[in-house]
This record gives sequence, C-alpha cells and structure tokens, in this order.
Amino acid sequence: MDLRELYQDIILDHGQHPRNFHKLDHATHFANGHNPLCGDRVTVYVELDGDKIRDVSFEGRGCAISQASASLMTEILKGKTPAEADALFKSFHAKVTGRDDASVPPALQDDAERLEPLTGVKTYPARVKCATLAWHAFEAALKSGATGATVKTE
Ligand code: ZN
Repeated sequence: MDLRELYQDIILDHGQHPRNFHKLDHATHFANGHNPLCGDRVTVYVELDGDKIRDVSFEGRGCAISQASASLMTEILKGKTPAEADALFKSFHAKVTGRDDASVPPALQDDAERLEPLTGVKTYPARVKCATLAWHAFEAALKSGATGATVKTE
C-alpha cells in the first residue's frame, strides 16, 4: 500500500466513523462553521479548563474531507492549550495552501504529522476550505465564548 492509499483510508475511516461526534454538554465555547462552496457544516464545541482544552467535539455534515478533518482535529486538540492549537492550525493551514513555512515545536511534531493525510488537498484549491472549516470554527469558538459564533469560509 502506498502512502496515498493509506492517507485515503484514514480520511475515509474518519469520514465514515467520525470521532467525538456529539454535542458537548459542558461546552464553554462553541461555534458554527459553514463552507458554502461545498455545503459543509460543522459545529465545534470546546470545554476549556483554565489554559487547557479539556474536551472538544463536533457535529455536522458535509463531504468526507470536512468530516474527517473535524474528527482528526478533535482527537488531536484534546489536552492541548489554545496556544498549541493555534500553532498546529498555522502549520496545517500553511501546508494545505501549498506553503510549508510554519513549523511546530518538537513537542507537537507527532500531532502535526497526523494531519498529513489531509494535506493532499493542496492540489485541489477548492477543497482547502473543506479541510480547514473545523479549525476555523474552533478558533471562532475560542474567541466568541459561550454565546457561540458563526464563521463562513470565503
Ligand atoms: Zn467539503
């Protein structure tokens, strides 16, 4: 199996069996994300405890890329600090937009590598918004607090 097939399997697996796919009852922050280009919708819930992301989950529907990205993101962000989440998003965003100029600290290297399967979208610019939707919603959630927010990727 080559790397491309392996990556495809990971995306299909997370797309079909999304992890942390539920509403978070104790969410301190949440936000809705909408990608009108593809029709993807996600709601990201965050439970922040001091400077730690105690829990993060999502609900939504859309293409396999958007759902797989949200699923992987929730797995990776649990237990992180908002600053670590921000560093991961910056490096992920750089990769999917075809740049590679945002590296993460060594402690986050493994997590950044788990996002590699999604970086294949860089050859399909229209899908970049699918891959980053959940992350935009996550960032909007942290900024907005318990009142929630809505982000549109355009
Ligand atoms: Zn999509």
